[in-house]
Amino acid sequence: MAEHHEAILNRFREAGALLEGHFLLTSGRHSPAYLQCARVLQHPDLAEDLCSRLARAFADEGVETVLAPAIGGIVVGHEVARALGARAVFAEREKGRMTLRRGFALRDGERVLCVEDVVTTGGSLKEVQQLAQAAGADVVAVAALVDRTGGADPGFGMPLTALVRIEAPTYVPEDCPQCRQGLPLVKPGSRDI
Ligand SMILES: [Zn+2]
Repeated sequence: MAEHHEAILNRFREAGALLEGHFLLTSGRHSPAYLQCARVLQHPDLAEDLCSRLARAFADEGVETVLAPAIGGIVVGHEVARALGARAVFAEREKGRMTLRRGFALRDGERVLCVEDVVTTGGSLKEVQQLAQAAGADVVAVAALVDRTGGADPGFGMPLTALVRIEAPTYVPEDCPQCRQGLPLVKPGSRDI
């Protein structure tokens, strides 16, 4: 995948999903990059193409079901499942816990791939991984379109497969290099990822 990395990043940039500059995140921290994956996934042809590239890594894994956390993971899960000829289900929060609703269920021994759009700390993806394992499913892998972990271990107990890795450090305002350069601070429209 490495040789396509910049080309794939450009598709995120062209869709306005990856902005570079000086951004105020909802956490109050500042970052030179802002990622809103939904802006690339709003284009079904792009979503299908990017997710099918991610799915290739699992073509021989006998994946029966792709499980994703709502809301961010739903489109990715659907498109990865399409590429693998698998079923797509999603988990959503109920009283703070990731839960399978809507009649979705996993079978003992079912080969499940857990996917997410963006992994930063990995919290939601880890929760659906644990949900699948608790249901007795065999989690074959965890994957995301974008790895934003910056090399930190999200604690999946297995490698995270990602289509692209985006280095997007965040800073407290006092330590922000863009502030020091006097670049104007931009607050992006909605919740940062
Ligand atoms: Zn700043």
